[in-house]
Amino acid sequence: MNDIHADIMVISAHPDDAEFGAAGTVAKWTGAGQAVVYVVCTSGDKGTSDRDLTSEALIDIREQEQSDAARLLGVKDVVFLKYRDQELEDTPDFRKDIVRQIRRFRPRTIVTSDPYRRYIWHRDHRIVGQVTLDAVFPYARDYLAYPDLIQEGLEPHNVAEILFYAAEDINFRSDITETFNLKLAALRCHESQVREFGIDDLETWLRKRCRQMAEGEAFELGEAFYRVKAPR
Ligand SMILES: [Zn+2]
Repeated sequence: MNDIHADIMVISAHPDDAEFGAAGTVAKWTGAGQAVVYVVCTSGDKGTSDRDLTSEALIDIREQEQSDAARLLGVKDVVFLKYRDQELEDTPDFRKDIVRQIRRFRPRTIVTSDPYRRYIWHRDHRIVGQVTLDAVFPYARDYLAYPDLIQEGLEPHNVAEILFYAAEDINFRSDITETFNLKLAALRCHESQVREFGIDDLETWLRKRCRQMAEGEAFELGEAFYRVKAPR
């Protein structure tokens, strides 16, 4: 197995999405010796109400915060695709960029945002979920989809499953009772964003949210997903 291989790939629109959606589960995986990588499509360069901050300054801050959070969670690698915040579109180029990362790391599981959340939902989250779903099937799988990627040595790859965070329909709840504190610490790495949330007590807020996501389960704290098996 090549050393770039990852068991799990989290594909997010912005720095902090992966921590909100899946950090407790990511910490569980890395703790069990699974290799997790992040692909972060934009660097969150528009998400601030601070008029003194330029987009360029924000890119540096957000990438540093994302790298710090990933390190804390034991994530093996973070790839920044450097698309502009709020400008993700479902284009052939973006889809190919996602396919390229899937074929590089060859993950079993992909984690991303649910594209089918209704009404208020960040457009970038909707787009990244849709493009990732399409990239997994059929584009990463099919030999003839990108002959030039084959030339680069990026052979077709079958992902086994996709977990969508922020889903409205839930069919998989992950027990993060043991890794809740790591999720909290990882979210706190995103200091420039956390202060914008208007949440006084992040721990109380997050605990309540994770308790809701464990609803109906025997464990106390969870993260909730919609899980889809990819066709072979
Ligand atoms: Zn986001």
